[in-house]
Amino acid sequence: MTLTPQAPEAPFVGSNPFRFMERYRLLGQIGLVVASITIVLSGFFFTNHHQQALLDLREGGRQMRIAQEALMDAEGYVLNKAIGEAPGDVGDYSRAFEALHSRQETHLKQLDQFLKQKDTASPSAIVLIRSLETNWTATLEAARAGRLPEARAILKSTNSANVVSELRHAFDAFLADWNSNFAHHETRIEIGKMLVLVSQLLIGGLMIFAFRSGSRDAKARADATRQMETSRTQVGHLFAMTDMLQSASDYHDANAVLKATAGELIEGFSGALYVFNNSRDRLILSTSWGCDDVPPLPETITSSQCWAMKRGRNHVNRLGSKALCCEHHASGFAALEIPMAARGENLGLLQIFADGPHAEERLSSILPVGSAMGDAMSLALSNIALREKLRSQALRDPLTGLYNRRYMEDSLDRYVRLAEREGRKVSVIMIDLDHFKRLNDEHGHATGDAVLREAAAAVVGTLRETDVACRYGGEELIVFLPDCDLDDAGIKAEQIRQRIEDLSGAHGAKVSASLGVASVPSTSANSVDLVKAADTALYKAKHAGRNQVALAPVRPGWRAQPDDAEAKTIPFRMAAE
Ligand code: GH3
Ligand code: MG
Ligand code: MG
Repeated sequence: MTLTPQAPEAPFVGSNPFRFMERYRLLGQIGLVVASITIVLSGFFFTNHHQQALLDLREGGRQMRIAQEALMDAEGYVLNKAIGEAPGDVGDYSRAFEALHSRQETHLKQLDQFLKQKDTASPSAIVLIRSLETNWTATLEAARAGRLPEARAILKSTNSANVVSELRHAFDAFLADWNSNFAHHETRIEIGKMLVLVSQLLIGGLMIFAFRSGSRDAKARADATRQMETSRTQVGHLFAMTDMLQSASDYHDANAVLKATAGELIEGFSGALYVFNNSRDRLILSTSWGCDDVPPLPETITSSQCWAMKRGRNHVNRLGSKALCCEHHASGFAALEIPMAARGENLGLLQIFADGPHAEERLSSILPVGSAMGDAMSLALSNIALREKLRSQALRDPLTGLYNRRYMEDSLDRYVRLAEREGRKVSVIMIDLDHFKRLNDEHGHATGDAVLREAAAAVVGTLRETDVACRYGGEELIVFLPDCDLDDAGIKAEQIRQRIEDLSGAHGAKVSASLGVASVPSTSANSVDLVKAADTALYKAKHAGRNQVALAPVRPGWRAQPDDAEAKTIPFRMAAE
């Protein structure tokens, strides 16, 4: 099954807190605008109302003064006529009363209400003015008829001067009261203006606050979006890494995937991977990346030198501090140490390095990604180890640990063909333990097995890295020796014989082997002939008395190459021709 890298669902979808906050911020702003308009309009109407009242007061006062002056004018005219002087015009007198009549239903009524409020028993100004008009009309008729003493007597008898004086006081009191209302409205107008100003300042402040918090929200939103994008990319890389690791057939492939992913996922950090060796007593440096500036890494470390391995938990080796620092850690940089385990088995250690300012904070910030990489890598290493174990089980003989016959048959022909093509030689040594049946019978099958295992180890101990040892069957082993001619193979066979003979005594048994040696191209032309020739030589060694080496005969017509011309002295027991 192949995992297709897929970006994960963005978190918060459906209940995005930013969308939620934005909705409420928008509602708040609308509320603020409505409140600000309401306050400003209320302030405006409030001020306007009082301004209008002030205008009305002014106008009322003016009208009241006109009425008062009209009364004075009328009185002056009447008095003059009563004493026989003739200034003034009767038209003025008529206009004065017209002015009073025209204000009778409005301002004089207001004056009456005012007087009633002050003193319910006080006479009505309208009534007084009407009585004055009646008396003054009579006075003027008498004066116009030349009866001046009568005119004056009317004035006196009707107490006209006192009535006028009373009315004047009433007007004055009314105007004084109105003037006090002026102050009241002026104060309200000032308050209204102040209210509008303060509310405008308040709204301005709130607007600035809303704008600031809005821009803060926008920044937080942008940060969160960026973070989401980063995690999406990281998850994408991790998926790709897991996918690639599934196809990694060995440690080399897995290391290449790790290095490529680390370059993308945790750019700017260097790192290293250590994996356990076969005997699981050491961690071996498997790969590293970006470590040019890092002090040379140790090739091996032990679990006891590493806090992360000891505790089985991530550990940070701090930059300038030696406190709780792993023994294997060199100073000059900070290191995040991630132990790797899978299927209950410790597999290795992933290290990520950082230096410079804030090195530890930077390492902390990549901790989740580093751990995820460690997990993916652990699983891959575990899979590779499992695969290698299965492959080895399929290719190796469980008793001796040597390659099995199937492997030998699959690979020998390949070896021989390659050697032929490249003009090189290949030799084989066929080994058969002597009288092994007897050994089993006399010392038991378990001893036989132990001898077989030790003989196999003795064989492997004499070989080069390129040589291949296999269990051919029963107590027979076969060895291929690439780039080795017949004589050198004979020398190697003698070494093996000696080592096997040296096993004698350990189990109270005599141990020996007979060996047959053949070589391409000197004794055989192909792989089938090669094994046959070695087998025949072995048979010869058995017949010659066992515990010895026999070489296959050189093919007739085969000419030795110049470097083979010189006959080699073979310092070992050869089977007789
Ligand atoms: P020779 O010197 O002629 O080779 O005599 P031999 O007894 O070694 O040869 P033979 O072929 O008669 O007997 C081989 C014996 O090796 C028979 C078998 O019991 C024993 N053998 C084969 N495989 C194993 C094994 O895996 N373990 C043990 N203990 N013995 C084995
Ligand atoms: Mg045998
Ligand atoms: Mg045998």
